[in-house]
Amino acid sequence: AENMMVETEKLKVAGQLAAGIAHEIKNPLTSIKGFIQLMKADEYPNKKYLEIMEDEIHRLDIISNELLVLAKPHKHKVSVQDLIQIVKEVIFLLEAEAVKKSIQIKSVIEDQKLMILCDIHKVKQVLINILKNAIEAMDQGVITIHMSKNENNALVSVIDEGCGIPDEYLDHLGKPFFSTKATGNGLGLMICQKIISEHGGNISVQSTQMQGTTFTITIPMIKGN
Ligand code: ADP
Ligand code: MG
Repeated sequence: AENMMVETEKLKVAGQLAAGIAHEIKNPLTSIKGFIQLMKADEYPNKKYLEIMEDEIHRLDIISNELLVLAKPHKHKVSVQDLIQIVKEVIFLLEAEAVKKSIQIKSVIEDQKLMILCDIHKVKQVLINILKNAIEAMDQGVITIHMSKNENNALVSVIDEGCGIPDEYLDHLGKPFFSTKATGNGLGLMICQKIISEHGGNISVQSTQMQGTTFTITIPMIKGN
């Protein structure tokens, strides 16, 4: 009987996820279909409509890529990496986006090397997601990325000065499709959590509304470093 319960619970979760996916896919499809119909009535293709359709297809592409990360069993391509170098690369990738919003990204490095065993692409994806969220939460100001270690773990904190997260939303973080953004898909943090837990680590969040949010990623370090 116990197993049955587990299976029923799994089906419920799968059902909720399926409903969310269907909803997320339906919106862009409806809009693409609408613009095709409009263009069929015209003699010439409309560039503006084509651009919107391209954006919507891009959105569908992102959603399916993110869902694939979830669907794939954790087939890690692991190697020894310095987490500090990974963070530096991610800052470089998002620097332009930050500058556009007058946001400065500062890094504070407390320990020179944070050696971890990881799938570098997945860890990059996590850092990109969290740093992007920080940028999206702010109009301007400073994002501080703090890198340090404790006895067993490497720690990266992304500290923003953004809108903050209301207490009643904290429990929803990481649930599929929970998003407060007009163009968000609410898959980012769920994927981050999956990836970090596959690395034996965890993600914690601390937030004060109107002041800012701190996401801290903890990943076990390689012994003897
Ligand atoms: P998305 O970015 O597509 O909305 P995420 O899973 O990345 O999806 O984030 C889910 C939600 O968590 C966001 O819509 C936002 O409400 C909240 N959130 C995440 N990071 C931050 C942050 N740094 N500051 C404020 N809110 C945040
Ligand atoms: Mg996000």
